[in-house]
Amino acid sequence: MTRKQQSKVCVHLLEKEKPYYFSPEQQKSTSDSFFQNSLKLAWDNHHYIATCCCDQAQELKLYVRSNKGSGPFTLCRNPNTGPRHKSSCAYHSRVNTDGGAKTYSSSAVREEEDGTLRIGLDFSLRVSATDPERAAPATVHPPRERRQLNRLGKMKMLGLLHLLWENTGLNEWAPWLQGNRRLTTVMSRLHKEASNIKQGRTVLADVLLLQGNEHGNKKAVNYACAKSRRLIVISELNEWSPALIAGNSLPLTGTTKSAPPAGMPYLTIDNSRWESSLARFRRDVAWWQRGGKVIAIAVTDVPVKKTAQKSGREYFSTCVRQVVLMMVSERWIPLESSYEGIVEEKLAKERRQFTKPLIYDSAEDQYHPDFILTDVNGSDFVPLEVWGRDTEDYLQHRAVKEEWYQQAFGDSWWSWDAVRHPRGEEIPTFPQRKEYYEFRYPIEKES
Ligand SMILES: [Zn+2]
Repeated sequence: MTRKQQSKVCVHLLEKEKPYYFSPEQQKSTSDSFFQNSLKLAWDNHHYIATCCCDQAQELKLYVRSNKGSGPFTLCRNPNTGPRHKSSCAYHSRVNTDGGAKTYSSSAVREEEDGTLRIGLDFSLRVSATDPERAAPATVHPPRERRQLNRLGKMKMLGLLHLLWENTGLNEWAPWLQGNRRLTTVMSRLHKEASNIKQGRTVLADVLLLQGNEHGNKKAVNYACAKSRRLIVISELNEWSPALIAGNSLPLTGTTKSAPPAGMPYLTIDNSRWESSLARFRRDVAWWQRGGKVIAIAVTDVPVKKTAQKSGREYFSTCVRQVVLMMVSERWIPLESSYEGIVEEKLAKERRQFTKPLIYDSAEDQYHPDFILTDVNGSDFVPLEVWGRDTEDYLQHRAVKEEWYQQAFGDSWWSWDAVRHPRGEEIPTFPQRKEYYEFRYPIEKES
């Protein structure tokens, strides 16, 4: 792998008409230089946008840091943006160690010299012919641990889904994405990311079934059959109906009475396993019932080829061994509660730029903001929190988390007490946007 290199950066002092660009060479000097002076101006008046130029298609935010406020000044990547930088860029990190992924040790996930991401799942993708139940997936995804004592040496299914979501930027939103995040974009990004992730000798993309990816799905099924591999499926659930609760096939979008979705095998799931999964992901199921979008990630057995008795037609079938549900917004942003859904909707309507930190398999005592606003006037980023319950347990958790916020962010964090003010219109105003965003992405006045 090529060694990581400093990229060109852009510093836009917002009172100046044009942004300044600095080559890696120009960034080197730590004393009185145009670069250092520009960073000092940015640091002093807060009205700036600094970005890394490694990938022109994205706005990869940086912020100015200094130990003493006097220099030298440096640029740091915004939290949770490591995976979005080009792999050759010094700001790049394939594993987002600013967020939930720091819960893992290197045996659960690590980036290899050649840029491959090596993961250690808590089950094996390869199934041994002599002992098919060895290292098999658990029936139900385990609940979140209360406390974490040691880093986790294995990644679970929710962790894998969050890894894929975060590394493809699907947990970020910006006003210019409105109308541009379509199913095909989402699925092709997931596939591309998976083509560079390995467990043992299995490349994740080779065993990945994705919604609408007919050709790729057929290839994966044949591969899994020939090489004795489990399949990983990622797809939206079908529109909710009471019949789907009692069914015996995984109700993915595109499933009909007579056929599985595009290029996939029949995905059967025994009823008790499906019921326990629905009970495990209660909030996501409630979201689904109210018409919300829910993503399922499932792992199956090795698919088998069968022949229909009447028609003689050949088809593939496999059993689902474990399924994890994740509610998302219309914009595919993962959500943990319907209150978060209200906040996310309001953020998008107000054309805000934000990130949804993902928890992976981290324990409850690992704190993460519910959202991070990245377009705030006079600030690099501001965390947002939704307090969603008032049980005694939760209030205790809330007190500790408030303390954590105060320590990590001082007074610059925002919160909404959804239990005391459950109606959306009582959400406090979000911190103000930078003028630049107000000007470029004005909010259409409702008539
Ligand atoms: Zn970069």
